[in-house]
Amino acid sequence: MTVSPAHTAPTAPTATTVTTGGALPGGEYDVTIVGAGVVGTAIARELARLPLRIALVDASDDVGDGTSKANTALLHTGFDAVPGSVESRLVREGHLLLSAYAAATGIPVEPLGALLVAWDAEQLAALPGLAEKALRNGYRSARIIPAEEVRAREPELGPGALGALDVPGESLICPWTTTLAYATQAVRAGVELHLNCRVLGVTSAEVHTVATGRGPLRTRYLVNAAGLYADEIDRLLGHADFTVTPRRGQLIVFDELARGLVRHILLPVPGALGKGVLVSPTVYGKVMLGPTAEDLDDKTDTGSTAEGLALLREKGRRILPALLEEEVTAVYAGLRAATGNDDYAIRAHPEQRYVTVGGIRSTGLSASMAIAAYVVELLADGGLPVAGARDLEPLRMPNLGEAFPRPYRDAELIARDPEYGRIVCHCERVTRGEIRDALASTVPPGSPDGLRRRTRARGGRCQGFYCGPAVRALFEEARR
Ligand SMILES: Cc1cc2nc3c(=O)[nH]c(=O)nc-3n(C[C@H](O)[C@H](O)[C@H](O)COP(=O)(O)OP(=O)(O)OC[C@H]3O[C@@H](n4cnc5c(N)ncnc54)[C@H](O)[C@@H]3O)c2cc1C
Repeated sequence: MTVSPAHTAPTAPTATTVTTGGALPGGEYDVTIVGAGVVGTAIARELARLPLRIALVDASDDVGDGTSKANTALLHTGFDAVPGSVESRLVREGHLLLSAYAAATGIPVEPLGALLVAWDAEQLAALPGLAEKALRNGYRSARIIPAEEVRAREPELGPGALGALDVPGESLICPWTTTLAYATQAVRAGVELHLNCRVLGVTSAEVHTVATGRGPLRTRYLVNAAGLYADEIDRLLGHADFTVTPRRGQLIVFDELARGLVRHILLPVPGALGKGVLVSPTVYGKVMLGPTAEDLDDKTDTGSTAEGLALLREKGRRILPALLEEEVTAVYAGLRAATGNDDYAIRAHPEQRYVTVGGIRSTGLSASMAIAAYVVELLADGGLPVAGARDLEPLRMPNLGEAFPRPYRDAELIARDPEYGRIVCHCERVTRGEIRDALASTVPPGSPDGLRRRTRARGGRCQGFYCGPAVRALFEEARR
C-alpha cells in the first residue's frame, strides 16, 4: 500500500511513501536503515535533512513495534552510565536533544525527578559513589538526601528507607509518540518507509543488494539498527564482534487510581543485572512496577511469568505497600538487547559503507537523537556526502499525556469538530476524532495495537473489553 497524500494528515506537506506490501520500488538508495525502532527512526529523521534517497525498512507492520514499544519510558540523564563510555556521552547528549525536541513537537514529558532509595546499610554506603559517578558523567544536580526528606517527599513509601540520591533531571516520556514523531518527520521529508519488509541477506559489492521478504533492495550505504537482531544482520556482513542476549523485563501497570500514591520515579540502587526494579508513574496517568532482568535464549519471548510477577510484587510491596492494593491494568514485557559489554556496540565499517548500531540496551530511547547524530557523523567519515542539509518542517504530535490538555476536555475543539467529543474508549477517554486522525496520519497503524500506541484506545482498565469491537470496526473501515 502506498499512502497517497489524500490519506495523510492534512498538514503533510508532500506526497509520502509508506509501503506495507508488494515489490519494493526500484532504483538505488543512498542509505538504507534496517530497523524502525526508536533508534532507526531517529537515524532516518537525521538523514532526512540531506538531499539523499533514504529507505527505512522493518520486518514488522509498524514502526516502534520491537523493544521500543515496551520499556519503562524514562528519559534518563545518564547519571549512572559507565563514565567515559559511548553510552554515557550519547545518553547525556540525547537527554538534552530529546527534551528540546519533545517540547517542540508535543511529545509528553513529565520532569518528576528520581529518588534512588537506599533500603539497607550497603545501599546507603553506595550513594556517595553514585553521586560521584553522576559528576563524572557530567551530571551536577544529584545530591544525597536523608531519610526524613525522602519520607516527606514520598509519604507512601514503605518503612525502612535510609536515604536517597535525588536526581531531579530524570523524566517520564511517551515512548510511542517519540518513535512516531521521528518516523513522521522522516517520511514527510522524503524517507521511504517499507514495512513488512524483513531483511534476509546482504550481498555487498560496489552497491549492497539487500534481500528482503519483499524482493531485493539496492543501497550504497547500510545502517543496521535491528535491535535484538543487530548481531544477526552484522553476521550477514561478515562481522561477529558481539552477540545479543535478550534480557527480558516484565512490568506490571497499575490503574490510574494509584497515581496519587507516588510523586517521583522511585529507583533502586543498581545491581549487577542493571537498573533493578522501580516504581514510576507513566505519562498515561498510571503507575508502573518493574522491570525484571532475565537473560533468555528466545528473542521473541515477551511473555509474562508467574515467577516474574511474584518477584515484582514482592519488591513493590517493600517500596510502596499501598500500590499492591490497587487494581492491575496490564502486564507486559520487553527485551533488552544485552551484549555482555558495558557499552553500546556502535561500529563503523567505512570500507563496506556500513554502520552497525548494536547493543542499545536500557537507554536507547533517551539516547536516540544523539545516536542518530553520531551515526550520521560515522557515515560522513565513511564518505557519505552530507552537503546541502536543510531544516525539517516542524511537527506537532497529538498529545497522549494525562498531564496535558486532551481533546475530550477541550470545549472549543469539540465545538469546531464534534468528533472530538465522541468518546470511543471510555477508560482512556479516547475520542473518534483522535482515532480518525491516527488512521489518516502520515504513518498509519498496521493493527489495532498500533492504533493504541497512537491514541491509547484499548489501553485502559478494561483492556478493550468494552470498546474493542468499536475500535476494530473503525480500524477495518479505514483500511477498506
Ligand atoms: C524493560 C525495558 C525497559 C527499558 N527502559 C528504558 C527507559 O526507561 N529509557 C530508555 O531510554 N530506554 C529504555 N529501554 C531501552 C530502550 O527501549 C531500547 O534501547 C530501545 O527501544 C532500542 O531501540 P532499537 O530501535 O534499537 O530497537 P527496537 O525497538 O527493537 O527496533 C529494532 C527494529 O528492527 C526490526 N528488525 C529486526 N530484525 C530485522 C530484519 N531482519 N529486517 C527488518 N527489520 C528488522 C524489528 O522489527 C524492530 O522494529 C528499556 C528496555 C527494556 C526492554
